[in-house]
Amino acid sequence: MKLQEKFIELRSKNQGILATNFYNFETLEGVLRAAKAKNHPIILQLTKSSIDYMGLPVAYSLAKSMLEYHDVEGWIHLDHGDSYELAAKCLDVGFDSVMIDASEQPFDENIAITRKVVQLAKNYGANVEAELGYIAKLGQNKDETGFTQPQEAKEFVDATGVNALAIAVGTAHGFYDSEPKIDLELISQIGEATDATLVLHGSSGVPGKTLTEAVDRGICKINLATEIKNTFMQTLKTKLAKNDEIDLRKVFPTATSKVVELVEQKLEIVRNQK
Ligand SMILES: [Zn+2]
Repeated sequence: MKLQEKFIELRSKNQGILATNFYNFETLEGVLRAAKAKNHPIILQLTKSSIDYMGLPVAYSLAKSMLEYHDVEGWIHLDHGDSYELAAKCLDVGFDSVMIDASEQPFDENIAITRKVVQLAKNYGANVEAELGYIAKLGQNKDETGFTQPQEAKEFVDATGVNALAIAVGTAHGFYDSEPKIDLELISQIGEATDATLVLHGSSGVPGKTLTEAVDRGICKINLATEIKNTFMQTLKTKLAKNDEIDLRKVFPTATSKVVELVEQKLEIVRNQK
């Protein structure tokens, strides 16, 4: 099943889907073991930095073969693609879905590049996600606001033909200093204004009940990255502080297990069964 079709199925059941970033074999293993245990589909995401770290064909093949090995229903997605060229390379390798993030460009330029990627992706039957509004990236000012406006969202989706849209409703990338205020009503309004599948970036540290409500209001794809990295690395640091084991196969599994626990909790939230 194509990701676009899965979105429709999930939305009809008012369920969400978790989109998790992975950085290496261990974080991918953790995510997939959780998805298998919870019998829930998953979107595996790669950013440009992770692609540069592992190499595009290697990262793609690893995700593809591990989805098959663990027998999990899943899709491979480019997260925050910053150029047409990168999106094109990913589609050529076999990605099911790409994000083109031109949200920091003026509205018309965002439309122009998104439309171009949508046209290209049609040849591959792939899903495209774009972003509209200001969702602070790591290191950017989180107090600045640039929430997505429902009418602009409609105009953007109509003009580009994009299938999925990341919206700015109060989340930011990375952890939060205090509990973020998510504009839940705005999610409903954007959902009414457009048919696009709505995506929430920056879910790390957002309370479970808020995420559940976001799904109720129409968010379908929930991205999770920072908490995965953090859980893995903090567990490793703690473990290594106390022993001098040099066999990485005896050290990494503890951190992988913590990723499994984290992702299982998040999958329960997005499944949204009452
Ligand atoms: Zn993001």
